[in-house]
Amino acid sequence: MRASSYFAPTLKEAPAEAEVPSHIFLIRAGYIRQLAAGFYEYLPLGFRVLKKIENIVRKHMDRAGALEILLPILAPSELWQETGRWDVYGKELFRVEDRKGRMFALGPTHEETITDLVRKNIRSYKDLPKNFYQIQTKFRDEARPRYGLIRGREFVMKDAYSFDVSEEMAVKSYNLMMDTYRKIFDELGLDYLMVEADTGAIGGKYSHEFVVKVPNGEAHIVYCEKCGYGANVEAAKYEFELDKLPPEEEKPLEKVYTPGVSSVKDIVQFLSVDEKKIVKTLVYILDDGTAVAVLIRGDRQELNETKLINHFNVLDAHLASSEELSKLGVVEGFVGPIGLDIPVYADLSVKKDLHNFVVGANEEDYHYINVNIPRDFKPVDFIDFSTAREGDPCPVCKALLKETTGLEVGHIFLLGTKYSEAMKAYFVDKDGREKPIIMGCYGIGVSRLMAAAVEQNHDENGIIWPESIAPFKLHILALNTKDNQIKDVAENIYQQALDMGIEVLYDDRDISPGAKFKDADLIGIPYRIVVGKKVKEGKVELQKRASGEKEEIEIAEVEEFLKKL
Ligand code: ATP
Ligand code: MG
Repeated sequence: MRASSYFAPTLKEAPAEAEVPSHIFLIRAGYIRQLAAGFYEYLPLGFRVLKKIENIVRKHMDRAGALEILLPILAPSELWQETGRWDVYGKELFRVEDRKGRMFALGPTHEETITDLVRKNIRSYKDLPKNFYQIQTKFRDEARPRYGLIRGREFVMKDAYSFDVSEEMAVKSYNLMMDTYRKIFDELGLDYLMVEADTGAIGGKYSHEFVVKVPNGEAHIVYCEKCGYGANVEAAKYEFELDKLPPEEEKPLEKVYTPGVSSVKDIVQFLSVDEKKIVKTLVYILDDGTAVAVLIRGDRQELNETKLINHFNVLDAHLASSEELSKLGVVEGFVGPIGLDIPVYADLSVKKDLHNFVVGANEEDYHYINVNIPRDFKPVDFIDFSTAREGDPCPVCKALLKETTGLEVGHIFLLGTKYSEAMKAYFVDKDGREKPIIMGCYGIGVSRLMAAAVEQNHDENGIIWPESIAPFKLHILALNTKDNQIKDVAENIYQQALDMGIEVLYDDRDISPGAKFKDADLIGIPYRIVVGKKVKEGKVELQKRASGEKEEIEIAEVEEFLKKL
């Protein structure tokens, strides 16, 4: 490809809203442009990378026996009503109306559509197992589209769905996808972790996320370097037994005057107690309107709302506002479990070995000290409501956990029968009985991967593509196109590379050498041949984008180098 007739408009400055390296460089290097918030155009360079990622994903999915299909982007709302997701999916779902007033979902994911296809066309155990996948544009009206391709409102996803006759077979399909994902992310050259994930609104039994490690990523994970345990903090556990305080003799309960003192920090100072001996009482309102109080030790981070939502099996829960608290007759800032009229649950950090602790007294400016369970109150239950964090003991091997952030690039779920039961996708088993098909679903953020690769592979001058997904393998720079000798040599090498089938971008533009080097660094093609003044001595320069290595070689040796490529 000749740069003179190509379209890779590079920019000196990134747009103001671009905050992260991938967003900045993909725009500056001419890979993508924004049409509107969360909607991007892929320019020739960007489209090449996108296709390369797709092809790696496709190759491994095909090898795993998954069958590529293409489903309509729009789905009739009736299908989404069958699973209840027409209401549950909320504002993230783009909804469109046809001329007759019929409503459609602009697909954010395709469980409903694929389950409909399968229930209409698969009858018998003999037709199973099956795994269908597609690589397609998805739409989600994200609350905060940002970071370029990382969180778009239109993006490319690979979504796959497995159908099996039994739980055992479904687990096999799930494990096969897990292995396949590892192969895909390995070939993409990414540094990633596979971690346990919350199953969230999509439902299902268990799930794993593949997270590419990047600073300031949106996914927060804890992991153990010793045994390999890893989980999204939404789902992560820790070994709370090791975090317990030594036993103590119970002291008599006492109510103390604590004027204006209500935060954990203030209580620590005012009463000179360890924050581990303060128990916070948080009042939550579940989406059905029920109020629950949850106790958590003062040193734990915020309560893990995902765990709370999962435990109570609701879609949403929020901390009670001042108004809601006063309606419940609860004194804000001094809430406590003793004599409270709301069901009280306790985090595992409060479990019975905690002695002589401090709680609010349900009275303005008062706390109880020397509180003990079960003497002074009894929680309904002890539940894991904490967010695991760096330094907590690993739940598997008890080594200390590490914390990091990343980008979720893949997510696999064992769905079970959630969708097949809701939509009556049954098959007739060997024994002649009708049973719901066991499903799994598997997503990869294809366009997000392009950004993830840049997040992990760049320097201050631009992108450094992993070879497997670089838009071109070789970049030829002719430093002065007015010099006939330089031009001839460069043209020659370009033709040779083309003849050998090497993907090559040839910078034959009539611009300054400095501008060519700047663009080449921005664009990030792995290998470079620079044709400049040294042609007079019969030499050209080889450069590697990643290491910055430079090497002069004889023009006669170029062919050998191209062969190696
Ligand atoms: P997130 O927590 O980042 O919103 P998700 O759990 O909603 O992701 P899934 O529904 O599992 O994502 O979608 C499968 C994959 O699609 C994700 O792992 C991610 O890589 C990608 N993805 C999800 N939302 C977006 C988006 N708005 N823009 C780009 N890629 C996305
Ligand atoms: Mg999401």
